[in-house]
Amino acid sequence: MSEPSQHTIHILRYAERTAERQHHFYGAVDRPADPMPISYFVWLITGPHGPVLVDTGFTRATARRLGRAYVASPRDAVRAAGVDPDRIAAVVLTHLHYDHAGGTADFPAASFVLQDREMAFWTGRHARQAASRLGLPHLVLPEDVLAVCAANFAGRVRWVDGEAEIVPGISVHRVGGHTPGMQVVRVATALGPVVLASDASHFYENVERGRPFAVLDSVAGALQAFADVRSLASDPGLIIPGHDPAVLDRFPDAGLDSLSGHAAVIGGAP
Ligand SMILES: [Zn+2]
Repeated sequence: MSEPSQHTIHILRYAERTAERQHHFYGAVDRPADPMPISYFVWLITGPHGPVLVDTGFTRATARRLGRAYVASPRDAVRAAGVDPDRIAAVVLTHLHYDHAGGTADFPAASFVLQDREMAFWTGRHARQAASRLGLPHLVLPEDVLAVCAANFAGRVRWVDGEAEIVPGISVHRVGGHTPGMQVVRVATALGPVVLASDASHFYENVERGRPFAVLDSVAGALQAFADVRSLASDPGLIIPGHDPAVLDRFPDAGLDSLSGHAAVIGGAP
């Protein structure tokens, strides 16, 4: 069966902050104090089967509390890209960290695609310790997990254990490593299969040099995730890291007035 390849991906930056290299890598790092800013994205996929959004970002209130520079809410960014956020029926949550799962309330018509293991972990006995280790208690917010619980009771969670096709040409794949149920998204495009790696590789440097990010569930899992992501992509250049500002230089600007300099497009006319 041939894969549909008509998908377009909008890479939408909704927030950013300054940081240093030493914040981003597990273990010792070269040039630790060099600047290494981090961007926060959601990814909007459009195609013949309706829009699919990957991740929901965090809210303006969370940005203010944590000192992140907010560009636009993911809801407004989706609208700027020409899609009505109230009509998005499928949202993939790559994992439940605050910067990916904090905006579920902004997509009221959506079902959320989530790995069993991710929810099991963050509702399980080690959630509290895992959220507060490394001095980063904001990494998973109870209210974000509770919102997904409520969505589940409303029949709005699509559970996955491993891999699943969301619509023809768009599939999710559990890779683990960063969190227990971390999943990536493979998208058929005119350029070939693109892998939205999310936090399986925060930066190009993670996957390209085999260097895991500082926040880890498992070192071996993170290394295996790099291999899995590489095998899912048709070309290493079509692996899209989750937080690297450089993606906006490597792909054409999306030409969205309200997100000038913050949005790129893959697989479609800008
Ligand atoms: Zn993240």
